Amino acid sequence: LAGPGRVYIVGAGPGDPELITVKGLRLLRSADAVVYDRLVPGELLGEAKRGARLVYAGKAPGRHAMSQDEINRLLEGLAREGLVVVRLHGGDPLTFGRGEEECAYLLSRGIPCEVVPGIPSYVAASAEHLLPLGSRGYSRVYTVATGTLAGGTPLPRERLEAAMRASDSLVVLMAASRAAEILGLAAETLGPQAPAAIVESASTPKSKLTLGPAGELAATAKPRPPALIYIGGAVRWRLDTLPTGRS
Ligand code: SAH
Repeated sequence: LAGPGRVYIVGAGPGDPELITVKGLRLLRSADAVVYDRLVPGELLGEAKRGARLVYAGKAPGRHAMSQDEINRLLEGLAREGLVVVRLHGGDPLTFGRGEEECAYLLSRGIPCEVVPGIPSYVAASAEHLLPLGSRGYSRVYTVATGTLAGGTPLPRERLEAAMRASDSLVVLMAASRAAEILGLAAETLGPQAPAAIVESASTPKSKLTLGPAGELAATAKPRPPALIYIGGAVRWRLDTLPTGRS
């Protein structure tokens, strides 16, 4: 290795630029190069030092700026130039972010790499809209699932159904395009009155909560990504507890 090159895989948090860790912000401010995702809060890029190289490596559904392989090699190349690199992920790098693949690739080539966690979107959405995933009497077991697998194929319905049955609460990421199907499955599996919610653009000025029985939401909801689908106890807590729970 030429110089002190290394890569920090950093979680930027879900949208609100204040929801990055102190450590993540310190590293971002000191990095020579920043490779960032589509869902990284724009304000945070302004924290990079003057002259830092900023590289977009976003992956919009079906429109990838770079393949994962290209991203891995880019990170390796920058580190081999002796640069301190921050690879900035939306939310948490190891929550459906493939940060672990990037880190494994770099470590296997002798490049120092460290992961700095971030607040995942569903943790921020739960806080913002009071949808408690771990809640006494309401949500003792919760599951966080991806609705979409590599290559854009859907997580099989059987997996979602099993998760619904086994969990008090289920949150599904990367599911905006099949929201009606997943909410319909919840209505079939848990009954049409099963409490459900959709959170779009959590922790941003555009944040939007839609509540309703799964059967109704299945018919009406057309979420704009990025969005999360909640089913079960976390939503029931809100309905039972807050005076405005239903609005
Ligand atoms: N690493 C990210 C997840 C990446 S997968 C994390 O920790 O949250 C991308 C998915 O995350 C989106 O399809 C959406 O389901 C979810 N997501 C990311 N940011 C979001 C936000 N601000 N509001 C709602 N959902 C979000």
